[in-house]
Amino acid sequence: MSTLDIEGLRVTYGETVAVDDVDLHVASGEILTLLGPSGCGKSTMLRAVAGLVIPDAGRIAVAGADLGALAPHRRRVGLMFQDYALFPHRDVAGNVAFGPRMQGEERAAIHQQVEKALSLVGLTGYERRSIASLSGGEQQRVALARTLAANPRLLMLDEPLGSLDRSLRERLTVELRDLFRTLETTTITVTHDQGEAFTIADRVAVMRAGSIVQIGTPQEVWKQPADGFVARFLGFTNVFDVDVRHGRAVSPAGTFTTERGDGPACAVLRPDAVSLAPPATADQEGDALLPGFRGDHFLVPVALQTGAVIEVVVRSGAVPEPGERVGIRVEPGAVLVVDRDPSPAGFTRAARQPKE
Ligand code: ADP
Repeated sequence: MSTLDIEGLRVTYGETVAVDDVDLHVASGEILTLLGPSGCGKSTMLRAVAGLVIPDAGRIAVAGADLGALAPHRRRVGLMFQDYALFPHRDVAGNVAFGPRMQGEERAAIHQQVEKALSLVGLTGYERRSIASLSGGEQQRVALARTLAANPRLLMLDEPLGSLDRSLRERLTVELRDLFRTLETTTITVTHDQGEAFTIADRVAVMRAGSIVQIGTPQEVWKQPADGFVARFLGFTNVFDVDVRHGRAVSPAGTFTTERGDGPACAVLRPDAVSLAPPATADQEGDALLPGFRGDHFLVPVALQTGAVIEVVVRSGAVPEPGERVGIRVEPGAVLVVDRDPSPAGFTRAARQPKE
């Protein structure tokens, strides 16, 4: 267990600024997840800590000691790559033994570490299996075991479940969380999936364009997203640009009071803020569009007379037909008024689509 301290980290690739003056402190034993769209600099952060890219500026320290001058193999930080990067010509044990062997361990010690790592990931008995004979989920476990066997002070995993299918991913997310809690190793994971981040992390750092835009526990980030970008990325769909004037935010979905000063902002309507209502108690009327089935609820988009489309969660009662005129009620207490999404138009929406 070690703390990680990153200060003023900047990494560029030619003209591209991949990481832009980032500070990050991860406590001993903490599990921190970097969450953000593709290309926001998450992998580069891990690569810089592992020593695989040379930062343009900044300081990275583990347990108070600067890593700057240390070669990658001397840093004792483990990085599991997104594509696992297993050695196809070696069997499972040969892959997992790689770290301890590089560290010059004795045969008996290597054997012990391999067995321990395989047992941690539930692959005892797989030692002689070839990599090609393994399923995607098993390969992921071998990659994890290989990283663990090197006994890192800091564990880093880049999209650990990225290439697996959804049901396996959901199961392994919970397994990973339990494993990290057992290991008590300081851990950083990277994902573009907010559900995965919320399940695994003690704290989530939301990244955008090379910067950390918000950091906090999953509950904190969910309760109070820093701006429209974070809100959209976390999956809030009813996010509208507004202009605040004299404590009033006028949005296409209604006018809300706020303590913010005058200027551009974003209104975030939580799912529980919006409901269908009979005309007598409705704040607005609109036309229902094609509903989406979400297992335990329907998501009904409603085109308001203002031209905006608002999504309403319908858990019980009749689901309106497409084209049906419906009333909408907005609970003002469940509306957040936050900073505008600074992304260029269209960026966030595209970024919200997970890369399957
Ligand atoms: P993420 O992990 O969030 O997808 P990356 O750290 O991989 O983001 O990339 C951050 C930015 O740096 C992107 O614009 C990406 O295109 C660029 N980038 C990453 N790796 C390289 C590289 N080896 N050479 C040039 N540009 C790169």
